[in-house]
Amino acid sequence: MGCKRDNIAQAVALISAIPGVNIKNISSLYETEPWGKTDQDKFLNQVIEIETSLPPKELLRELQNIEIKMGRQRQEKWGPRLIDLDILLYGNEVLDDPQLIIPHPHMRERLFVLVPLAEIGADLRFPDNGATVREVLSSVLAREGNRGIERI
Ligand code: ADP
Ligand code: MG
Repeated sequence: MGCKRDNIAQAVALISAIPGVNIKNISSLYETEPWGKTDQDKFLNQVIEIETSLPPKELLRELQNIEIKMGRQRQEKWGPRLIDLDILLYGNEVLDDPQLIIPHPHMRERLFVLVPLAEIGADLRFPDNGATVREVLSSVLAREGNRGIERI
């Protein structure tokens, strides 16, 4: 919601200000058709790579604090929101906790994640099955085509 470009830029600035976090790489911005709940405005997506000394759950807590600081309320699932900060991968860790699942549970079916991620991390491997981001992206593209995602 709001000025999506500004919201993302503000979130990236706040992430770079977290103690123990360094931003290493940032993808382009991608405008994407809504997923899951389709009667809403387009979304803007970006993937960043960070280096961090924070363990996964502390990182999640910092990201949630930023979501709150930026005025995100608890809203309907998959509905419009000011900002949504998710952890996709964390090195080679696999975590299956109700509070934090890594790799992110839906990332392998979402082009709006895979396309920007492949831009900065095509050779990364999923720690659970060893597939690369490039391979997973190719198989989703072969199945669905590149619908509704545009680099801006
Ligand atoms: P979504 O990101 O699916 O649109 P939310 O941002 O509201 O929805 O997240 C709901 C919950 O998902 C969070 O409270 C968080 O504990 C949990 N969660 C599980 N795995 C992850 C992850 N990898 N990154 C971010 N949140 C996660
Ligand atoms: Mg989220």
